[in-house]
Amino acid sequence: MMAAGTAARNGKRVLLLEKNAQLGEKLKITGGGRCNITNYELDDRKLLTHFGDSQPALFSPFSQFSVKDTFTFFEKRKLPLDIQARNRVFPKTQRAYDVFVVMKDFIKKEGVNVQLKSPVIQINTQAGRISSIDTKTLRYTADSYIVATGGVSYPETGSTGDGFQWLKNLGHSVHQPSPDVVPLRSNDKWVQRISGTKLSFMKITFFCDYKKEFSETGKLLFTHFGLSSPLILNASRKVAKLLKKGYVHAEVDLFPDTDVGSLDKKVLRILDKNKNKDLKNTLYEITEKKLAEVIFDMLRLNDPHAKVHSLSAEDRKRLVTILKKIPITIDGLMGLDRAVLTDGGVTLDEVDTRTMQSKKIENLFLTGDMLHINRPSGGYSLQLCWTTGYVAGMHA
Ligand SMILES: Cc1cc2nc3c(=O)[nH]c(=O)nc-3n(C[C@H](O)[C@H](O)[C@H](O)COP(=O)(O)OP(=O)(O)OC[C@H]3O[C@@H](n4cnc5c(N)ncnc54)[C@H](O)[C@@H]3O)c2cc1C
Repeated sequence: MMAAGTAARNGKRVLLLEKNAQLGEKLKITGGGRCNITNYELDDRKLLTHFGDSQPALFSPFSQFSVKDTFTFFEKRKLPLDIQARNRVFPKTQRAYDVFVVMKDFIKKEGVNVQLKSPVIQINTQAGRISSIDTKTLRYTADSYIVATGGVSYPETGSTGDGFQWLKNLGHSVHQPSPDVVPLRSNDKWVQRISGTKLSFMKITFFCDYKKEFSETGKLLFTHFGLSSPLILNASRKVAKLLKKGYVHAEVDLFPDTDVGSLDKKVLRILDKNKNKDLKNTLYEITEKKLAEVIFDMLRLNDPHAKVHSLSAEDRKRLVTILKKIPITIDGLMGLDRAVLTDGGVTLDEVDTRTMQSKKIENLFLTGDMLHINRPSGGYSLQLCWTTGYVAGMHA
């Protein structure tokens, strides 16, 4: 949409072919329906450090359409933006749908001809150029072609990797897509049992073959398949590497700011206050209800109605240890269907990023998730879409 609207704004006659009955199906579900539209870092040098090896190739496109331009683009179209924690930017309305409406109105105003329910099935070439493209019923010809078919995550939104196959056929190298920014899978029964439980502040440490590897601090969400939250998504690339090496488990510290001694005192105070009550109920005062039940089970006290006063000093020490180190087996990553991003796409070396033009096919331009560019979650992906879409639209 950004590429089509930009080209049309520059006086080109533009046809946008969309496979779905509606445009922007993925855009509408971004950021849990809130759309993390960009990341507020106005210094390109700092911003681009988040794009790994692709950094040098991205200076030129970002000099043409930067984070500041994203703000101007949306705010000029009456969608004020709001900067939140970790520089993540959302529409003030907190609705991804409103971002979609801006894009839809943009292409309409610029006169883009949109054909819905029109999957492209083939790209035809002649003498090293694209000569035409086919849908089921029609053949279209144009001077330039922009492929913006996205990656392969959440295929129900329409991105099923069609573009990757076409580009391979056209001689491009396509890095095999694999899930990248993706939740973690745990088959531990208790994790599934407490699905929906959120921890607003904890520390998670990952181990490979019982050797400590790295820690992250922040929010955690237990799901019916394992663990999620922005922190987990961003850790998934490192965890994927550990999973290739050996057995991976994690330990969750529910009180990262409290050392064992202080936590023991805190627990003792709570237990003293509730001496004659059921231990299980008292644990609700220490942590979230469903998790407290799991912790109670982990204590293996044999009596489901054990009273607080029956807890030995040793049991209390075990309780404190569990609160600081809840063990979770990490069995893998979730698949492409649940990945926010896929690590894959057309090798950036084969694209002139000053124009987003293919170096192999002269009248072909590429944008967004088609490109193999690693980045974390936090608004960086959509910013790449706005930037590469604008540049492709300007030069196509
Ligand atoms: C659940 C989820 C949440 C996300 N949240 C965020 C976020 O908050 N912030 C962020 O920066 N990034 C987020 N992302 C990533 C972001 O959505 C993508 O980077 C972005 O949508 C990619 O845009 P694109 O235009 O390249 O491809 P897509 O958005 O995938 O669009 C591709 C379009 O091409 C169409 N198409 C495919 N094949 C054909 C064909 N053969 N013929 C015609 N049309 C075709 C599809 O139907 C689709 O409309 C999220 C991703 C997911 C899955």
